[in-house]
Amino acid sequence: MAFLSDTLARVKPSPTIAVTTKAAELKAAGRDVIGLGAGEPDFDTPENIREAAKRAIDQGKTRYTAVDGIPELKKAICEKFARENGLTYAPNQITVGTGGKQILYNALMATCNPGDEVIIPAPYWVSYPDMVLLAGGTPVPVVATIETDFKLTPAQLETAITPKTKWFIFNSPSNPTGAGYTRAELRALCDVLLRHPQVWIMSDDMYEHLVFDDFEFTTPAQIEPALYNRTLTCNGVSKSYAMTGWRIGYAGGPAHLIKAMGTIQSQSTSNPCSVSQYAALEALTGTQDFLAPNRKLFQRRRDLVVSMLNAAPGVTCPKPEGAFYVYPDISGCIGKTSAGGAKITDDEAFASALLEETGVAVVFGAAFGLSPNFRVSYATSETVLEEACKRIQSFCAGLK
Ligand code: PLP
Repeated sequence: MAFLSDTLARVKPSPTIAVTTKAAELKAAGRDVIGLGAGEPDFDTPENIREAAKRAIDQGKTRYTAVDGIPELKKAICEKFARENGLTYAPNQITVGTGGKQILYNALMATCNPGDEVIIPAPYWVSYPDMVLLAGGTPVPVVATIETDFKLTPAQLETAITPKTKWFIFNSPSNPTGAGYTRAELRALCDVLLRHPQVWIMSDDMYEHLVFDDFEFTTPAQIEPALYNRTLTCNGVSKSYAMTGWRIGYAGGPAHLIKAMGTIQSQSTSNPCSVSQYAALEALTGTQDFLAPNRKLFQRRRDLVVSMLNAAPGVTCPKPEGAFYVYPDISGCIGKTSAGGAKITDDEAFASALLEETGVAVVFGAAFGLSPNFRVSYATSETVLEEACKRIQSFCAGLK
């Protein structure tokens, strides 16, 4: 009898681990390493949120709570959806979990049966395909290339849908590309989805507040009310409120799905951390004053990184609408040899040589389902970003 489960065999170890481990090794050996891999804001959780958490502790709000969220937080989430997205949800249509990740996982666990297909636009957040596999479904990646700014076209979506399609996972702005769908682009995808009533929509709106210039964030159930009854609108406080470690995510959707997700959660983790829920309550109901300055800061960093990467030979870096990632294409670098003698056969070799020879750690594109590219997270200071981009420029200039 095998000790490890068949379920585990369905999941691949994270391809990003190799780079992360190597970066940590080099750092431990005293090398000057710049990590551009982490997907989290580089500043602290705002003070009003931290204070709310401290109050919660002092007031003894440290016990089990309702499995899928305290009523006050559910009410605040209903108000957030109404205020920011024009969506009406009742508290029994809201679930709160341990990070956005658990929300997506609960939904897939609660709905996927063997043979069920889940359409995942690529480049994708690394966890989507593996979560689908863990849940027993079949991931169906559909590649959106740089020609369409990494956005899926309606024709691609139409072609990918089959009678077995259960979910379409939509993530705008996207990790890893930062691409955000305009209202018109999302409208066109919704028109396709309207024709296929068996398909549910999982909208991962984690980067809602991190959008630049005059980009307007929209979400499917808001754009097309006829999809409301088969859409799970997922969000969380991790990225917008610099709260990655607090682990609070949430979703609004049809009550029967929300109930099923709560059942999964009740037999796995129970409630998300009580103190974090009070912190999230403050995040959603307290001042939103820091969101705009943060957006400005990230926009400046994006502009810096995009212009410096485009100045690197062999690199093409589109300017994304949101999040804090860029996903440059490095077709012009493949097949060359680095100054240190490494053969750049693919994007994994590029990332590996870049780290070895310059100390800059990025995540290679194959991890996200589109090559040859790499992902830069620009959630770090402009001084560090400038130095990192200079090193990337000279690494690329040294390719022969
Ligand atoms: N969705 C996307 C697109 C993400 O990039 C992430 C985190 O990297 C998550 C969900 C998960 O967020 P959380 O940290 O709240 O679990």
